[in-house]
Amino acid sequence: MPYLDYNSTTPVDDRVIQAMLPTFAESFGNPSSQNHDTGRIGRDLVENARKSVAGIASMRPSDVIFTSGATEANNWIFYGLSMNKGQPLRMFVSAIEHKSVLEPCRHLSEQGAKLQKIPVTSEGIVDLRQLDGMLLREKEKPDIVSVMAANSETGVIQPIRDIVDMAHAYGALVHCDATQIIGKIPFDAQESGVDFVTFSSHKIYGPKGCGALVATRHARKQIRAMLYGGGQENDMRSGTLNVTGIVGFGKACEIAAKEGLADCPRQEKLRDYFESNMMRLISNVVVNGKNADRIPNTSNVRIADTIAEAVIVNAPKVEIATGSACSSAAIEPSHVLTAMGLSTDEANASIRISIGRQTTQQDIDVAIDAIAKAVQYVRGKEAEIAGA
Ligand code: PMP
Repeated sequence: MPYLDYNSTTPVDDRVIQAMLPTFAESFGNPSSQNHDTGRIGRDLVENARKSVAGIASMRPSDVIFTSGATEANNWIFYGLSMNKGQPLRMFVSAIEHKSVLEPCRHLSEQGAKLQKIPVTSEGIVDLRQLDGMLLREKEKPDIVSVMAANSETGVIQPIRDIVDMAHAYGALVHCDATQIIGKIPFDAQESGVDFVTFSSHKIYGPKGCGALVATRHARKQIRAMLYGGGQENDMRSGTLNVTGIVGFGKACEIAAKEGLADCPRQEKLRDYFESNMMRLISNVVVNGKNADRIPNTSNVRIADTIAEAVIVNAPKVEIATGSACSSAAIEPSHVLTAMGLSTDEANASIRISIGRQTTQQDIDVAIDAIAKAVQYVRGKEAEIAGA
């Protein structure tokens, strides 16, 4: 059964599992217990992992704070800034951010913070002219500008360097959620000049429940601690470290740095093959964000006159995603696709595939065949209903 949902999560690499195993019963020390070897071994494991995690984003090990994932790291930045400021925060946040950015910002805005969404173009790229206009117009400049490095639904890569230059000119900090770019194409946080970078272990063949907030010294000083207690992570996030998860995360970063990028051309070929065959075999297929720079593993296609949920239900042998969320009342269209100007119907007719290290040409062929058959069936049913 082809699994084509790697942007959602990835299987843990066997080498990552092997690296984690000793931490359960053998190297089980608490890294904070520095008065015996068992504790010191635990600390060394964590510090080695910290180097690998920093390395993949070209940041310094001392900039890395381990978290339970990207959701926690993203939430932390906004609540941490807000608490430190002690006054309502002003936030410019791209309209296509992950919910773990949008929701804390929405919540803070309900408590008086000022949230403005940065629009995107029809290709799903943050609109720099609009951002420039927002920065010029506002009398009170934003405290933070938040734009992800690559979008999880469309794969569209964002112009982070330009955004940093613009935001820094107005004294704003910049947050970049790099969850979907890490391990897929090179990402140099230092070179791009961002202040906060967040990402997650389970998107890069590491374990779930582990991630990082990577922040420059200056940026770290602007946020309050996440948790108070024993003072771990330089007093920023107390609590005994998740050594097993951190070791796995470190190993996953090490492998991604060495090998992840080598597989990119192969994944890109499979992605292009998927798109050209979808367009050849099915009428009225459009690739969302096709003309933008995209990470190599992601394809988001709109199949006119279908409902993506119905296509997926009728292609049970392939594991793919839609950007829409089913609530009890209706299908909520993807906020990413509607921000790109798609209508509700167009957004709800879009599916996403995301390819990974284990994806084969055969997987893609099976997927195309299953989707084409499902589309034919769904369109037939729609026509029947319309004719009835
Ligand atoms: N940001 C982005 C862009 C994501 O794709 C995800 C995961 N879907 C997250 C944040 C949340 O990551 P985690 O599962 O580690 O909380």
